[in-house]
Amino acid sequence: MIELKNVSKWYGSFQVLNDCSTKINKGEVVVVCGPSGSGKSTLIKTINALEPFQKGEIYVDGTAVHDPKTDLPKLRSRVGMVFQHFELFPHLSVTENLTIAQVKVLGRSADEAKKHGLKYLERVGLIAHKDKFPGQLSGGQQQRVAIARALSMDPIVMLFDEPTSALDPEMVGEVLDVMVSLAKEGMTMMVVTHEMGFARKVSNRVIFMDVGGKVLEDCSKDDFFNKPEERQPRTKDFLNKIL
Ligand code: ADP
Ligand code: MG
Repeated sequence: MIELKNVSKWYGSFQVLNDCSTKINKGEVVVVCGPSGSGKSTLIKTINALEPFQKGEIYVDGTAVHDPKTDLPKLRSRVGMVFQHFELFPHLSVTENLTIAQVKVLGRSADEAKKHGLKYLERVGLIAHKDKFPGQLSGGQQQRVAIARALSMDPIVMLFDEPTSALDPEMVGEVLDVMVSLAKEGMTMMVVTHEMGFARKVSNRVIFMDVGGKVLEDCSKDDFFNKPEERQPRTKDFLNKIL
């Protein structure tokens, strides 16, 4: 579903991604972790072309992201993205947040978009809040709306960049629960997170990135957590700090 081949990116002379390669199959859940500044956000954003890169190739369901002829708005409409800071439109109601891109990007009718959006709002348990504005919701509720908004576009993969890092601790669980149920339904997901409980419970693979934008580990969840002797020293240090 997603393939990265030797992706490198520089800001001037600073290398932020160093020869990153990986493959994510349909239905896989891959957790990306690693220290702050190691390029996790940059890596995940290259996949829907929110970050350009200078070297390498990326394919999403066969579409070449690096090809200048690729229709990027179309690609982005198929790749759902959820950020740390929800990024809902503050001046639009929850329902309008759910429908605007369906109408503008996918060309759905207002009625169809609403029906579809509310189905996902129901799924994340927030149908009672459909007429509220983002500012009237808690952080956890806003993030669940952001997930419902992404799902309303019928994405083929979902990318998450630290979706629970900005939340008060008591709200982390409700967002993770939605992500766990998505994973169990077979959604292909790439998730940047420090929630190792989530990684242990639902991921298939773990990618560990190190400073300098290098993929230091790309292994099964079981190898990552249960075979420390096979891990790089930097990975072990990181795990010791966060577990
Ligand atoms: P992470 O998500 O792992 O914390 P990021 O992908 O956000 O890391 O950033 C990786 C590195 O790239 C950091 O050192 C960051 O300071 C640097 N960086 C990010 N954006 C820019 C930019 N626009 N210009 C220069 N450096 C940047
Ligand atoms: Mg980041």
